[in-house]
Amino acid sequence: MTTIDATIEKWVRPEIRAIHAYHVADASGMIKLDAMENPYTWPEPMRSAWQKMLSSTDVNRYPDPSARELSARLRQSLEVPVGMEIVLGNGSDEIIQMLALAVAAPGRVVMAPEPGFVMYKMIASFVGMDYLGVPLNADFSLDMPAMLEAITTQQPALIFLAYPNNPTGNMFDEQDIKAILDAAEGLVIVDEAYHAFADHSFMNELGNYSNLLVMRTLSKLGLAGLRLGLLAGPAPWMAEIDKVRLPYNINILTQVSADFALQNAHVFDEQTAAIRADRSKLMASLKEIESLEVFPSAANFILFRVPQGRGSEIFEALKQQGILIKSLSANGGLLSDCLRVTVGKPDENQAFIEALTVAL
Ligand code: PMP
Repeated sequence: MTTIDATIEKWVRPEIRAIHAYHVADASGMIKLDAMENPYTWPEPMRSAWQKMLSSTDVNRYPDPSARELSARLRQSLEVPVGMEIVLGNGSDEIIQMLALAVAAPGRVVMAPEPGFVMYKMIASFVGMDYLGVPLNADFSLDMPAMLEAITTQQPALIFLAYPNNPTGNMFDEQDIKAILDAAEGLVIVDEAYHAFADHSFMNELGNYSNLLVMRTLSKLGLAGLRLGLLAGPAPWMAEIDKVRLPYNINILTQVSADFALQNAHVFDEQTAAIRADRSKLMASLKEIESLEVFPSAANFILFRVPQGRGSEIFEALKQQGILIKSLSANGGLLSDCLRVTVGKPDENQAFIEALTVAL
């Protein structure tokens, strides 16, 4: 063992040594349908107006620490209820981290249904909290007896409910979420990352429960590169979370660009409407392939199961043909032989279906 290895073993916490860094696949030269991005860029007039605006943005000074202009714009565009406050994050990933930092203590629990978004568990490890994943039912609905039992016995400090859920794509039952809000003493964060593609939100429920917070991101809407997420909820909660936010966490280029983008909301409305329509077409094409089990989706991706034991092989065969999607097969359990494809442009979706047919 080298000196560095020995020093790492001595000082890096065992739970950090045990995890693998969040893996992002190399997509160079591929049709990229792995990360729930909006495939569309901006129309030319909007692009040049943006570049002009950026050219008059100075980067020598720190940005507005509370991003006031952008916050006001976000409150309006995301229809944050009057009386509720917001906190911004460098992506919603950073908000998950802020929430965990605010409540972390040894033995405290972060809980989420599984399969779910992997960062809930990773961030629990980062901050030294315990993590409890409660398996979903086979149809990906919440296992309510198990959730309520875990709430009683574990008293989680944080419960994350992705709505729609990633990677399964479904919406949990609204009444189930309300029952969890009633039962939990800790915070329940409804993570609406895929809100732009879904038909229901908990935003209007803010204030009806003392422990409800709603999280959103602009990533899936079309601004993944800017890294901007938002947490909305009652002012006293937001004041506590804001204390663990690093100063200037939203850089000036993100502040002005996101504000500019939201002034052109119609562009994103059109793009997300196209993605929703293409989701239906892609869903229909997948359902035509008899050997697949295709799951319903209220998000901008579709989860499907290939014949038993062939998950990794089919994922690789798609890659060989220049199509990158996401394999969830290695997770096993409810996700065995499951692959997840993000809805792309019509020609990309077509290329994916053709490559999948060859791979099968
Ligand atoms: N929540 C869910 C459910 C997600 O799927 C993702 C991204 N995959 C995020 C949060 C994080 O998004 P971002 O950090 O880009 O805002």
